[in-house]
Amino acid sequence: MKCPHCLENFRETWSALKDSSNDSPADPDGTWELGYTKCPGCNRVTVRMRQKVGGMTKSEALVRPRAPNRMPLPADIPEEFIGDYQEACAVLPDSPKASAALSRRCLQNLLREHFSVEHGNLHEEIAEVVPKLPSYLAAAVDAVRIIGNFAAHPMKSTNSGEVLDVEPGEAEWSLDVLESLFDFCFVQPAVLKQKREALNEKLSDAGKAEMR
Ligand SMILES: [Zn+2]
Repeated sequence: MKCPHCLENFRETWSALKDSSNDSPADPDGTWELGYTKCPGCNRVTVRMRQKVGGMTKSEALVRPRAPNRMPLPADIPEEFIGDYQEACAVLPDSPKASAALSRRCLQNLLREHFSVEHGNLHEEIAEVVPKLPSYLAAAVDAVRIIGNFAAHPMKSTNSGEVLDVEPGEAEWSLDVLESLFDFCFVQPAVLKQKREALNEKLSDAGKAEMR
């Protein structure tokens, strides 16, 4: 399985989490078994809960983490954006509405802090940033307002963090867009910076002028 924390593959062995009586608790809905496994890569514990009825597994849910991370978060992403993003991922299975609201708030912070857009409403801020983005990303960011049907739900634009009804796929799309923006704003520049530094080291060793 893939570790839900770091998304690396590993062979899992589940151990039972039991109370001192060594029995899994039972109620009229079934027997509730808690199991855990630890990822050898990131050393994090994953806990799952299984509902068994008549010896058969009826349902299974992740307890820790509540939902798999959608991608390993690179170190280059500033802390201020990570909180809303991670919470938007965590609540997605239970509440796409809440997830989309957190994603909109995160997107707005990113547009204001990183792209220094003029503070208005999210609709205008997206319009301002779209011409500054490469076309693949511009279309993706613009689609946040289209998929979210901002025209019919103006509160999504004026109060970005408000929990409002979502269109099908809107919450997932908002997270997809945030991930692509993180990559564009923070990850790729850091990768290129590292490569440029390595190149400059070679150039300087060879007695040549460094690339700026
Ligand atoms: Zn892991």
